[in-house]
Amino acid sequence: MVKRAPSRFNPDLLAREDVRFEATLPISQFPRLSELVLETDGNLVASFDVHERKSHRVVRGSLTFDAVMQCQRCMEPFSSAVQANFELVCVNTLEEANALPDALDPVVLDEDGQLHLVDLLEEDALLQLPDIPKHEDDDSCQPDVNSFGEIQNQEETQKPNPFGALKDLKLS
Ligand SMILES: [Zn+2]
Repeated sequence: MVKRAPSRFNPDLLAREDVRFEATLPISQFPRLSELVLETDGNLVASFDVHERKSHRVVRGSLTFDAVMQCQRCMEPFSSAVQANFELVCVNTLEEANALPDALDPVVLDEDGQLHLVDLLEEDALLQLPDIPKHEDDDSCQPDVNSFGEIQNQEETQKPNPFGALKDLKLS
């Protein structure tokens, strides 16, 4: 069964249901993500389930969105399809988060024991963004196209005229 995910929820209650949750959130709702991308009018789409594992409540799922970033090589915007899988352990405090084994990633609940969708998804979305965004294919990446074209034109005009020598011959 698939349900629409609430924007905040108690993971204990959701863990009792055998349900897969889906969420579509505007990128503009993610404050840190919004600062790193050029366009915030797209959506982030996620799906996840909540289950109990040992004494933990675990949220497991995936997210996807199109990140529009500025290429650091040619300075033009480009779009990159981002996809991430995540598995996060719900904790109540930062101390609990720090006490988790390194292999487990925490997500901290608010003071009411509620999990916020934005908190759940933003960290993993950020991790997928490249440190230095740039075009993946060289064909789309044209650093400084204009000045490169000018250099080519100069070379064109500086080429010796093949008839030049002939003209000189006739004159002498
Ligand atoms: Zn580029």
